[in-house]
Amino acid sequence: MRNFKLIAIALLIVCSFPVTIKLQNQTAPIGIRPQSPEGKGMVVLKAARLIDGTGAPGINNAVVVVTDNKITAVGSARSVQIPAGAKMIDLGDATLLPGFIDAHTHLIGRVLGDPDGDDSPVRDYESFGAILGVLHARDTLMAGFTSVRNVGAVGRFDDMALRKAINEGWTIGPRIETAGHTIGITGGHCDQNAFRPGVAQLGPIDGVADGPEQIRQAVRLQVKYGADVIKTCATGGVLSEGDAVGATQYSFEELKALVDEANKLERKVAAHAHGTEGIKLAVRAGVSSIEHGSFLDEEGARMMKERGTFLVPTLSAAEVVERAAKSGVLKGLRAEKALAAAAAIRHSIRMAVVAKISIALGTDAGVIPHGTNAREFFLMVDWGGMTNMEAIQAGTLNGAKLLGWDKNLGSLTVGKWADIVAVSGDPLKDIHAMEKVVFVMKNGVIYRKD
Ligand SMILES: [Zn+2]
Repeated sequence: MRNFKLIAIALLIVCSFPVTIKLQNQTAPIGIRPQSPEGKGMVVLKAARLIDGTGAPGINNAVVVVTDNKITAVGSARSVQIPAGAKMIDLGDATLLPGFIDAHTHLIGRVLGDPDGDDSPVRDYESFGAILGVLHARDTLMAGFTSVRNVGAVGRFDDMALRKAINEGWTIGPRIETAGHTIGITGGHCDQNAFRPGVAQLGPIDGVADGPEQIRQAVRLQVKYGADVIKTCATGGVLSEGDAVGATQYSFEELKALVDEANKLERKVAAHAHGTEGIKLAVRAGVSSIEHGSFLDEEGARMMKERGTFLVPTLSAAEVVERAAKSGVLKGLRAEKALAAAAAIRHSIRMAVVAKISIALGTDAGVIPHGTNAREFFLMVDWGGMTNMEAIQAGTLNGAKLLGWDKNLGSLTVGKWADIVAVSGDPLKDIHAMEKVVFVMKNGVIYRKD
């Protein structure tokens, strides 16, 4: 009897401890719902250097104090009062930075070069792209990208489901601002082409819309299902079948209707635009950013500067499609378009930097493998002639401004949310250091510590 009582008490004690699973450095109790992905308690991060994302000079021998999910002190070890009893993490010869921001991703679906990619709209199960998206989101976060703007997703609003799953803590990934379906003309870059009639016949809910009335409906439908931002295709594209990369697609009236409807619903518009004329139409219609901008000319650059339109150059995608064209992965018209756009963008990015257009880092991840996003920092310096500091700003504070999140994100500033990354070495000396991520914190929770 006594033994039985002891066993019962022991069982009770064991069962009252939460069962935990180890997820990187985060422990989440198993239950009907996982833990909220929000930091608790006080953590002090130390490293050899710090770059705060605002363009201010770096700080040596730096300290950041994180309380729960917020930054509560930043500075040199001498200037910051280290609170007694705080957990210390010394990252050694590393540089602390704000969480990186990729303003152009496609987390859902297969990646360029996947042999099943072209047939995926008809062969893959509807949820297949979303399952891949879970893995892509994890890879993106581990590469230091704590926020992304996801500008277009295949499937049925799987991007919204992924955003929700991450926000509730079921799976790990960056903060996601997402667009739902891209909105464009029938047969254009945002449509799915080269199938027989009846297959992939898309409508406004899928983002295929012609004329102002349908376009307004398409915007409303994306917003209805959760779009934070609206993405449109102002010109042809590289990877779509049958359209000319430089050709305009929507008319000015159509683009204007799209921007007006989006702005009325308090959403910004990102416009995919390669061709010279399409860039200008989109800028005049009032979009917030031009994506790619391959054939930008001086007049277009001036217009963007005057109106404060951002450029998201996606040099990584240009590099990858150029390589795919040269190696035969891309063939025919798509290969021709890839070579022409990649050659042009090397020129346009330099023009944009000289014209002092606001530039936000974007990779077109999905065209490039997810998790390799940080190479864009190097390309901005190497192709664009940006300083290392300018490239870092493009991938931190400028990105936050474009996403409309700069009040809480984008710099290591007291009061902002604790999205903090550390890279090995000094990225002001060698920009490739941005690719050597050793520590990732998002919202005060540590996801990576090598
Ligand atoms: Zn894209």
